[in-house]
Amino acid sequence: MEVKFIERDENSIRFTLGKVSPAFANALRRTMIGEVETMAIENVIILENNSVMYDEILAHRLGLIPLSGDTEGYVSPDECDCKSELGCSKCRVSFTLEAEATDDTITVYSGDLKSEDSDVKPIVDKIPIVKLAPGQKLKLEAYARLGRGIEHAKWQPVSACAYKYLPLVSVNVKKCDVCGECVKFCPRNVFAVEGSRLIIRNEMNCTLCTDCIRHCPMKPSPITIDWDDTTFLFYVESTGSMPVEEIVREAATILGKKSTLLSKQIKALEK
Ligand SMILES: [Zn+2]
Repeated sequence: MEVKFIERDENSIRFTLGKVSPAFANALRRTMIGEVETMAIENVIILENNSVMYDEILAHRLGLIPLSGDTEGYVSPDECDCKSELGCSKCRVSFTLEAEATDDTITVYSGDLKSEDSDVKPIVDKIPIVKLAPGQKLKLEAYARLGRGIEHAKWQPVSACAYKYLPLVSVNVKKCDVCGECVKFCPRNVFAVEGSRLIIRNEMNCTLCTDCIRHCPMKPSPITIDWDDTTFLFYVESTGSMPVEEIVREAATILGKKSTLLSKQIKALEK
């Protein structure tokens, strides 16, 4: 297996995963989406709500707010020995929210949620929850717990997680007359004309659409589009709840543990 990092910004990462099968690449993708644990609000106790929004919708909106922070030290409620419906300090983080509009209409934001653990809180303060007109009031308690994307999408640590085959673009420079049609029609700016030559500027941007070949006046075209079906170009974007490398690392660890378990069970069967 070969991993090569291509680029990273605050919340996303691009890397290639080489010498693996499509099944393995897909297993890694699915593990990142569905198996890496994050915190999200699961139970809400509404003490007062005379806003226009129903309690259920309000609870749903609260659940979808990504929570950041260090969740190490917390256990998921299934593994916790408290067996309590709303959890204990080891398996949940509680929030309170109290807002009231007196003279003007106000917007209640994610930042108005007060967390009992300063390490676990909404990733941004400006996610609107509900608007309150004068005289309206909202008072609630919310309980967040660890969960996985396979239970509900609110626990997904990634907002995007996809891969494609590594594109292999080549140009037979001896045959190409540098008419520039491919430069014009490529939607991903893969090609460029530099001096009197057609160059491949951005091979990894290619989506294998082959528009360049279709619009090339030369038949057969000097451009060849191919892909490496053992190398995958991954793009992973975090919701902000976890650093993106940690999501990849954690998914790999989970896959590793599952493989070990499977191999142990097979060995047990052989005996
Ligand atoms: Zn507990």
